[in-house]
Amino acid sequence: MARDVFCTVRNCKFWDDRKCTADAIEVNVDGGGYTAGYTAETNCHTFKAENKG
Ligand code: SF4
Repeated sequence: MARDVFCTVRNCKFWDDRKCTADAIEVNVDGGGYTAGYTAETNCHTFKAENKG
């Protein structure tokens, strides 16, 4: 289990100073399936847009 998840998605409600504060995250392969060929083919599906205003 990852103890620290570093993230660059600043507009996520779980993002705090380069770290993810969610209890758990789900990462999937872009376009479906179970294998990724490179980093950019993976993405976090726990992302929630930060409320504006
Ligand atoms: S939930 Fe995903 S996108 Fe949001 S801060 Fe955590 S790792 Fe980044």
